[in-house]
Amino acid sequence: MVRENEIRENEVSITPPEATDAGLTFIGRISTPWVSRLGCPRQGRHDGPICRIEIFAPWVEALKGVERFERLEILYWLDRSRRDLVLQSPANNGETHGTFALRSPVRPNPIGTSIVQLEAVEGSVLLVRGLDCLDGTPLIDLKPDRTLFKPIAPPQPGDFETGDNGT
Ligand code: SAM
Repeated sequence: MVRENEIRENEVSITPPEATDAGLTFIGRISTPWVSRLGCPRQGRHDGPICRIEIFAPWVEALKGVERFERLEILYWLDRSRRDLVLQSPANNGETHGTFALRSPVRPNPIGTSIVQLEAVEGSVLLVRGLDCLDGTPLIDLKPDRTLFKPIAPPQPGDFETGDNGT
């Protein structure tokens, strides 16, 4: 994993194609104790420090019911990452791995995901444990942990489809 946007032995960067606008908007901001990548956890822990997720207007109403879930999946934009490496050397030893075989923050679309423990909901702010991002990281989305969530909409045929029909 690139620690400070440096290029290491045998790492390969490319010139990324021009960005297309997927229409993302940041819906909030994450406050954490970490201001440097060198001190930030590689993966969050559920016994880690409490972090604060602030939801921006007009999205606060979308938090309705969120308190029912002990765990949430958080998606965030790793905004201080480079985005041009195809091969990376996490151990900085000349051995490389493909970007898509890593959970490194360096990726073409630097989206981070974490399952967090929900500690409290205070109006437009969630207090959680289990994050691994820098202070000020933009929030893309949050949703219930899939293992806790059951679809509320009525079932539809695809829900029961298996892969053994020869296709
Ligand atoms: N848990 C997420 C995942 O698996 O998708 C992210 C894992 S990534 C290995 C976590 C690392 O990303 C941190 O240790 C830090 O080095 C880096 N990082 C955190 N916040 C960042 C940000 N806003 N911009 C760039 N890098 C960041």
